[in-house]
Amino acid sequence: MDVAAWCGRCGGSFPLVEVIADPGAMGRCPRCSEPLGEGYAATVVPAIRRLLDAAQTLRDAATELTATAPSLHIDGPAVAAQISEAVGRGKR
Ligand SMILES: [Zn+2]
Repeated sequence: MDVAAWCGRCGGSFPLVEVIADPGAMGRCPRCSEPLGEGYAATVVPAIRRLLDAAQTLRDAATELTATAPSLHIDGPAVAAQISEAVGRGKR
């Protein structure tokens, strides 16, 4: 599942996975190459991986439920609003 992100320094948008894709550029914005924060390798990389894993887990579970429980309807907008609140530190 794609997770879109943006840099607070340059405003550039990128798939979150790009931040951890290049070992030589980890911790830096894929667009402007400026550091995204401190303590990167120790804390940020594992947190990004967990977030991407959680996004994929969410998608996989929803797909499974759609296939196995057709009468069960998850309130997508309500879930999305809570996820947005959890990950968002401001909209553009
Ligand atoms: Zn940037």
